[in-house]
Amino acid sequence: MAAMESHRVGFGWDSHAFAPGRPLWLGGVQIPHPRGLMGHSDGDVLLHAAADALFGALALGDIGTHFPPSDEAWRGSPSARFVEHALREITRRGWAVANFDATVILESPRLGPYRDPLRDSVAMLLNVAADRVSIKAKTPEGLPWADLAIAHCVALLERRAAPPPAGARI
Ligand code: MG
Repeated sequence: MAAMESHRVGFGWDSHAFAPGRPLWLGGVQIPHPRGLMGHSDGDVLLHAAADALFGALALGDIGTHFPPSDEAWRGSPSARFVEHALREITRRGWAVANFDATVILESPRLGPYRDPLRDSVAMLLNVAADRVSIKAKTPEGLPWADLAIAHCVALLERRAAPPPAGARI
């Protein structure tokens, strides 16, 4: 019998444009700013990338597969719900997040003062200790991205329970 697989890695990427008059949500934290991110949901670019990394690690599709933008049920939805769903999907298959590393690229606001709240929020959503979560921030350095926020991330999953039996409904 083959050894039980112990780790999987998933990658996530997302971008959203800024627009005036919307709250800015990043990593499940509301950040005071005159502009927020457009989107069918709350536009939380970091949590969308995080959900995609969890789905990607187990080849479960992507956030659009699970939460189609055509579905009015998700209009204005807190993106934390997407990550909670992705976490449930991996947990029921016997996996947990081992660590998570993200880079957010935006011109403003500067995220330095929010680094710890962002990390704590993402760690709570991923059900992992805060020292297993890294949220890095970069500016576009002169590139014409002042109206964009971009997030890249990777999530390493580790096996915590035996896989469900073949053919089991999960
Ligand atoms: Mg998105």
